[in-house]
Amino acid sequence: MHFCQRCEPAVVLEPAADAAVCAHCGWTEPARREPLYVVTGASGAGKSAIFTPLAAALPECVVFDVDWLIDPMKTDGSVDWDAFRDAWLSVAHGIAQGGRSTVLLGPLMPEQLADLPSRRWIGPIHFAVLDCTDEQRRTRLQARPSWREHAVDEHLLFAAHLRRTIPTVLHTGTDTPAQTAQQLAAWVRRTASSRDR
Ligand SMILES: [Zn+2]
Repeated sequence: MHFCQRCEPAVVLEPAADAAVCAHCGWTEPARREPLYVVTGASGAGKSAIFTPLAAALPECVVFDVDWLIDPMKTDGSVDWDAFRDAWLSVAHGIAQGGRSTVLLGPLMPEQLADLPSRRWIGPIHFAVLDCTDEQRRTRLQARPSWREHAVDEHLLFAAHLRRTIPTVLHTGTDTPAQTAQQLAAWVRRTASSRDR
């Protein structure tokens, strides 16, 4: 997304501190990097219910539900998921230019973001997972309208994988969405204040 405005042919700039620099001619432009927070979880974990209270609880960040770009990015009914995820990293980089961090709500995994082209324009990425018991997940998924997917067993496996691999886990089975949003906001602020700048 950052190209040298002097060189021919086009040269992609390299990140250096809070700038983007041309390795050929030294052209430099601002490219602030802020941390990205990802609130992941398998279907039925309560991600949708958390969106509005989390956006209200974190006015210093910008909160998105990643599903919002699924329809705009559909071509012939299918989505290029790497392009979809890279688009969200680009959005987060844009928001960082105003000094704000982005919070993405979506079923993402760290390894899906690590090698994307825009990854180097983002600061550290921190993950938290929303979780509930398998029984609660089954009940929630079965209560959904029929146009939503109901691959319960796949969601249970994905939930187990996230639970095993991501250290920050919040349980939505007993807490209300407002309570979970407050816990997430506290996690974001704690993480933001503990990082090295
Ligand atoms: Zn240049």
